[in-house]
Amino acid sequence: MNSQKQFKRRFSFEFFPPKTPAGMEKLQTVRDELARRKPDFFSVTYGAGGSTQERTIDTVLKLQDQGISTAPHLSCVGSTLENISALLSHYQDNGINRIVALRGDLPSGMGSAGELRYANELVEFIRQHSGEHFNIEVAAYPEFHPQAESAEADLLNFKKKVDAGANSAITQYFYNADAYFYFVERAEKMGIDIPIVPGIMPITNYTSLIRFSDMCGAEIPRWVKKQLEAYGDDIDSIKKFGEEVVTNMCERLLTAGAPGLHFYTLNQAEPNLKIWDNLGLSDEEQIRF
Ligand code: FAD
Repeated sequence: MNSQKQFKRRFSFEFFPPKTPAGMEKLQTVRDELARRKPDFFSVTYGAGGSTQERTIDTVLKLQDQGISTAPHLSCVGSTLENISALLSHYQDNGINRIVALRGDLPSGMGSAGELRYANELVEFIRQHSGEHFNIEVAAYPEFHPQAESAEADLLNFKKKVDAGANSAITQYFYNADAYFYFVERAEKMGIDIPIVPGIMPITNYTSLIRFSDMCGAEIPRWVKKQLEAYGDDIDSIKKFGEEVVTNMCERLLTAGAPGLHFYTLNQAEPNLKIWDNLGLSDEEQIRF
């Protein structure tokens, strides 16, 4: 974890683009609450194969206009070079200077892979297209990507994204800080020297957390799962326990030198703010910088 300590800490919140005007209105309120904490940036997800393209663009430009730097996610799977190129130019023309570059996942049966097959190819393409204009974030997987051939192969593939020009990485969420420490150590040994920022998923709902974690390969430790199960429908206890578990993990991560945190907000303010405030991130300048 030594090299991670050299990086300035940065804090960010991720949203998904709302489907309805009511959802957008709610997101504005959430955005206002989170903006008061002065995060370094917001980010907005992008649906597989461009399925949220217009909504992602609209949401990014709206949030950016309100004064906090906002990064669109951009996935290459199922897309053409022409489309990616047009999107990059549009973002560049509108003052966007950070992009989260991903492969993405096509739903089964939906179209072909497209012209770029992996995120490292997308990073390379962005650099060819826009030079150094964008600060490029890529994904990293402390518990390894579910389709990875092996842990070693996944790390080598991560390195390809860094070698192609990624500036920093955001991890898939996890609840085991040791997985992150070990991943970072191995990355450092391979000569990877970009910030690897932990992605943080607050725990608020047992069923959806289990479903989503199964899909993306994030492990819920047995003791956490058993305790959440035991709470049954008692949502308040689930939230309180989840807040404690995630706050403790974030404290450990930051103390060990993690270069910030990226919150998967699911467009909710409260669970993220509670963790943020428990960590004292707004009060203690020296923690942040
Ligand atoms: P890659 O880095 O391309 O890796 C995908 C798999 O292929 C891995 O198993 C890797 O080991 C392997 N691989 C990589 N490169 C090569 C290569 N050159 N040759 C052979 N094998 C290779 N999904 C969305 O649809 N929209 C989003 O907005 C979104 N945001 C995300 C944000 C973050 C921070 C994270 C962590 C994930 C996000 N995802 C999103 C999910 C992501 O798209 C999936 O996890 C997807 O399966 C992999 O994307 P990637 O960019 O990590 O792919």
